[in-house]
Amino acid sequence: MTPDSNASPGPIIGIDLGTTNSLASICDERGPRVLASRDGSRLLPSVVRYDPDGVVVGEAARAGAIRHATRTVSSAKRLLGRSAAECMRNGLQLPYQVVAGPRGLACIKLEDQTVTPQEVGAHVLAALRTRAEESLGQTVTRAVVTVPAYFDDAQRTATRDAGRLAGLDVVRMVNEPTAAALAYGLGERSAEERTVVVYDLGGGTFDVSVLRMSPPEEEDEETLYEVLATAGDTRLGGDDFDQLLMNRILDDAGVDQDAREGLSLEALQALRRCAEQMKFELSNRDQVSLDLQLEDRLLPRSLRVEVTRSSFEGMIQPLLERTIKACAAVLADAKLQTSDIDRVVLVGGSTRIPAVRDAVETFFDCPPYTALDPDEVVGLGAGVQASILEGNRSDMLLLDVIPLSLGIETVGGAVAKLLTRNSSIPVRASERFSTSIDGQTSVKIHVLQGERELVDDCRSLGIFHLTEIPPMPAGIPRIEVEFIVDADGVLSVHAVERRSGRQASIQVVPSFGLTPEEVDRIESDSFTHARADMHAHRVIDLRVNAALDVKWISEALERVRDELDPTYVQSLTGLLDDVRAQIRLSGEDVTRIDADAFHASKELLDKESIRLHEAAIAASLREDPGSGS
Ligand code: ADP
Ligand code: MG
Repeated sequence: MTPDSNASPGPIIGIDLGTTNSLASICDERGPRVLASRDGSRLLPSVVRYDPDGVVVGEAARAGAIRHATRTVSSAKRLLGRSAAECMRNGLQLPYQVVAGPRGLACIKLEDQTVTPQEVGAHVLAALRTRAEESLGQTVTRAVVTVPAYFDDAQRTATRDAGRLAGLDVVRMVNEPTAAALAYGLGERSAEERTVVVYDLGGGTFDVSVLRMSPPEEEDEETLYEVLATAGDTRLGGDDFDQLLMNRILDDAGVDQDAREGLSLEALQALRRCAEQMKFELSNRDQVSLDLQLEDRLLPRSLRVEVTRSSFEGMIQPLLERTIKACAAVLADAKLQTSDIDRVVLVGGSTRIPAVRDAVETFFDCPPYTALDPDEVVGLGAGVQASILEGNRSDMLLLDVIPLSLGIETVGGAVAKLLTRNSSIPVRASERFSTSIDGQTSVKIHVLQGERELVDDCRSLGIFHLTEIPPMPAGIPRIEVEFIVDADGVLSVHAVERRSGRQASIQVVPSFGLTPEEVDRIESDSFTHARADMHAHRVIDLRVNAALDVKWISEALERVRDELDPTYVQSLTGLLDDVRAQIRLSGEDVTRIDADAFHASKELLDKESIRLHEAAIAASLREDPGSGS
């Protein structure tokens, strides 16, 4: 049999082969996206277990790593293309034995076999290849694979070999920081040279790189991405944070050093998982508590552990300082100052920790890019590089205007637009809002894109919450929402409640997943529906305002009913009923409402209620004469 030279070679996929997690991506006319597994998981733990009856890759292998320690390999990337002697010298702490194989290269000694790091990498790559084929419904034989910027020739060759073993032709290797910049489309819009720092804090390693991007001099050339300097620490990452939390749990449980050594593998495994879970939650909450049920003779059976975010931040502070020292070192290497840096990009799952973001922001004195999921950025960038190689990046949306309007949801499901379509970027806008319920302490900020008037007809870009606003009457809090779209098209939304100073923010890339055709369709839809949409928006606003009026008027009426002329009360009650009926009806079907009639009955009620309000004010002055002066 000869290979069919006419067979389609299939698409080129992008792969981030990480120390802790790996993932596959593709970039088509909708932009880059992760290729998820059938059960929806996006990241694949880079862990492989060699069972007597076959190989287990990914989450299952990770979950059983401690129990099956003698058959499980994790972090094999650390050994790729390295000699065993080198690994010993570096004092790598790995949960398996590293031995010298052919040509002195590092190999992994398991229960009953010895495997090479290339073979382990190949299992991970093959699992990603299967994922990609299932998700795309096509054969996949080619990939762009990312490698750390500091990888030498031997390490790059070993990566290529791992691909070959998995049946993948590695058509290009891209430096991880370059991939991160590609995912954000940095260097594509700018006509000038740009300097970008990529701060990558993963599971077991930390890297920081300075990139220089130069725009092409000729039409048909590509942007030049150059790594000016890299620094880092191959023994610093999220695993260390887990270990610190684990120690804290054991301290709280009163387990002394001797007892710790004697803990069973099962107990250790459970503890490690709990610690990581707590760490995840501390990225979103100020405090977490954990009820631990352990079946170990050395630990109490049930244990309650509480950790606050600030105590966690205290624990990891020395490690964060080490990463910041490396940032200073990399700048010195590149002979640059923080003021020379145009953008800072955060990469790696551990940069989800707010204290990490804060430390980076403080050092570089500018808010870092966080719009893309930090553990997916590198993989997405590999997909972008793949599509550049395939030559199909031409119809991606790379505009210097915002293609669709951007706004937020307001009460009742209407959209307040802050930035209108076709504004040229960079651009910023802000608007003031308030609360609609007495004592409301949290506000949802729902960021939307599109031309229509109602939330349901727009595209949701993200939601965040402004919390811990001190309780105040409705309408009193002063919430300022600011939208900033920078020159790369990244949108930052920032909300602040002025009276309390509480703030929150989110970053998104609005052009992600939008094709030019879609933009056209959304625009023409907005014309088709313009009349109906305006009507709906008007009715929703009327309903919100009318409901507030009805509430105030009926409360005042309860208080002073006895002092009023019964015919006046009767006419007011009639008007209230009218407006209530309109509110109810508009909640059922906006299209059936005559907005002018609704408006007229609301006006009538407002006018008629003036007498009531006068009576109510007079009554309250009588009750509490001091408050009127
Ligand atoms: P690598 O590049 O080393 O393969 P990743 O970028 O996938 O690793 O990062 C994995 C690390 O990120 C793990 O230590 C994991 O615990 C950590 N991590 C993931 N999500 C969060 C989160 N929400 N908060 C804190 N750490 C996180
Ligand atoms: Mg990584």
